[in-house]
Amino acid sequence: MSEAPDRFPLPPNATIGILGGGQLGRMSALAAAELGYRCHVYAPEADSPGMQVAAAQTVAAYEDPGALTAFARAVDVVTFEFENVPAATLDVLAPLVPCRPGRKALAICQDRLQEKKFLAQAGVPVAPWRAVESLQDLELAIAEIGLPAVLKTTRLGYDGRGQAVLRAPDEAAAAFARLEPKPLILEAFVPFTQEISAVAARGEDGATAVYDAVENRHRHHILDLSFAPARVPAAVAAAARHHAARVAAELELVGVLAVEFFLLPDGTLLGNEIAPRPHNSGHWTMDACQSSQFHQHIRAVAGLPLGGTERHSDAVMRNLVGPEGMALLPDLLAQPATSVHLYGKAAARSGRKMGHANHLLPRGGLAAPGAAGLLTDLRVTP
Ligand code: AMP
Repeated sequence: MSEAPDRFPLPPNATIGILGGGQLGRMSALAAAELGYRCHVYAPEADSPGMQVAAAQTVAAYEDPGALTAFARAVDVVTFEFENVPAATLDVLAPLVPCRPGRKALAICQDRLQEKKFLAQAGVPVAPWRAVESLQDLELAIAEIGLPAVLKTTRLGYDGRGQAVLRAPDEAAAAFARLEPKPLILEAFVPFTQEISAVAARGEDGATAVYDAVENRHRHHILDLSFAPARVPAAVAAAARHHAARVAAELELVGVLAVEFFLLPDGTLLGNEIAPRPHNSGHWTMDACQSSQFHQHIRAVAGLPLGGTERHSDAVMRNLVGPEGMALLPDLLAQPATSVHLYGKAAARSGRKMGHANHLLPRGGLAAPGAAGLLTDLRVTP
């Protein structure tokens, strides 16, 4: 790999390549522009959200070696806005240009089986799980783990796609037949009280910086709201942050990641997933922190020192999903304590993330006695 030691830190005006054209790439490119960099977005779809705000664009397939080679030669570093980067893509890029995050982090986070093993090795407790390659494996796994349980694809699942909750043994065969690609993983059903996540950044010098842990609520399997900070005991929040920093260090990550956790009634956190990139549950940092997760990602990728993760305000992040989400826009735009971020997507199809809004409260405001009333004004159920 051509990780030339004199390449980093990237000087102003250098070009950061971003593989993927979605909103995470868009917000990374906007942060890069603020730090004086140009971005070159590579994605198969023309006029993607990332391309709209980038200095250069390549519209090509992720498996196109000619286009990837030209892209690698045109940029100073490559980063990714999604973790399911095909191995063949990395095989072309990695010998030509530094890739951040690198192969190790991507490989682990692409595969739930590897991810679970890795989390346990990194000291993050996980729910009991078994690998499932055949219906016999599944029957054995159900006998060992019990029901209810969640059967998931190990690759390419997102926003609750590629999974089935099994409540009775006779549901196993149909779920096994339906879920593709194989192999699958069976996880014990976790009776969580809250879903928590924490975003950590790690620079090329190994320094880590972690944001406050947040509490996430989903609607139809898609993130709806994040509350920052999470309304959990201080020890739980500290454990989530500790785990996120440890995971970033063990992955030797250069960039930003999020770790999602389930919180059990006894205060135990179980690791669920790692996203080796900026994450939807970190969008609140754009308005409530010194340095947002996107600035942090670009700083790390460019070899700059990390910025401050201090939270100067409390925040509620609301995703604007599909036509229902967009219908809230006039209301949200009229609220002075709310910042709206839209992703430039033309059609508000159902289930599509169109943007998000960050409602800011004074620091400590979420836990204050008046918060419930305030949240009702924001149409958020406390
Ligand atoms: P995932 O794709 O793993 O993030 O799962 C999507 C959502 O499904 C999670 O945010 C949880 O709400 C739910 N879920 C996933 N795995 C489990 C589990 N083992 N037990 C209970 N709920 C789960």
